[in-house]
Amino acid sequence: MEMQAILLRQYGGVEALTLEKTAAPQPGPGEILIRNHAVGVNHCDTDVRRGLFGVAQAFPHVMGVDSAGVVEAVGPGVTGFEVGDRVSPHFLLTCGTCRNCIRGRENICLNSGVLGVTSWGTYAQFTCVPAHNVIHLPEGLGFAEAVAAQTAFATAWEALIEEGKLLVGETVLINAAGSGVGSAGIQIAKLAGARVIATTGSDAKFAAAREMGADEVLNYSTTDIPKAVHDLTDGIGVEIALDMVGGDRLIDSIGALALGGRLVTVGAHAGEQVEIDMIEFFRKHISMHGCGRSTKAIVQTVLGLVAEGKLKPVIHRQFPLAEAAEAHRVMESRNFFGRMILDPWAA
Ligand SMILES: [Zn+2]
Repeated sequence: MEMQAILLRQYGGVEALTLEKTAAPQPGPGEILIRNHAVGVNHCDTDVRRGLFGVAQAFPHVMGVDSAGVVEAVGPGVTGFEVGDRVSPHFLLTCGTCRNCIRGRENICLNSGVLGVTSWGTYAQFTCVPAHNVIHLPEGLGFAEAVAAQTAFATAWEALIEEGKLLVGETVLINAAGSGVGSAGIQIAKLAGARVIATTGSDAKFAAAREMGADEVLNYSTTDIPKAVHDLTDGIGVEIALDMVGGDRLIDSIGALALGGRLVTVGAHAGEQVEIDMIEFFRKHISMHGCGRSTKAIVQTVLGLVAEGKLKPVIHRQFPLAEAAEAHRVMESRNFFGRMILDPWAA
């Protein structure tokens, strides 16, 4: 069987993303072949495309860490899935047998791979994955919604709820309100009963951040964030700061924290090396949590809440798979609000 796929033949700019015909993968023992109906464009895809992810790919390579679709075929020995089931692959390809998987911490599996990074991913009409890395989609949830929700909401849920231990009534600072994790974080924090102060680099994104539920929105390019946050919280600061940007935003986040505050960080595209004032850090009793790899259980939780209408993924734009290069161009422009989705079957 043939399929259309974006075959990366060398690292490079957006022109490296070209649609080609290639043989569809065949499911081996324990594997499922998924017909992708919606595919997510993630910021990490641009790193993979440029060869900056830190994992060398064999060419040609198919990137893409998430998708939603239906089971096209099952390999020998697969139970619990049938042809036609609505499913999503989980981006973390875990072993299911190491000590961390057995402890229920599959997100720090000792033998994990990442879909679209260590194996062919979802920028294609079909993707083959081990069955234990596949989840069923809740009834009534559309494919584009499922993709738009899963990585962003699961990451934000892991950061705020699992690691940050967010409590009702706390105040949360959420950076980059326009990013997938940022807009998801605003909604999850509101659902959990928190007050949300969001930051963005552009006044044009204020209205959208408020629509997500942000109580206050600040422009980090024109505002002293630690001072503004303390002004908004009677001089106390926020109990949790969620950062996915790094650099100056991370420094601002620490400055905005209350005594005993928790910093949860899931990314550092704007500055990977950060100088932290450790005197401030220990005197304020700050704790810092690195995360960003959710479990299948978290994905199922957030998709359930999306299906119930309690969380709403934001879709910036949908593109045919053939226009993946344009989607990457928009991703790198940072001029968007919400997720970008590719449709492998659109003309
Ligand atoms: Zn494992």
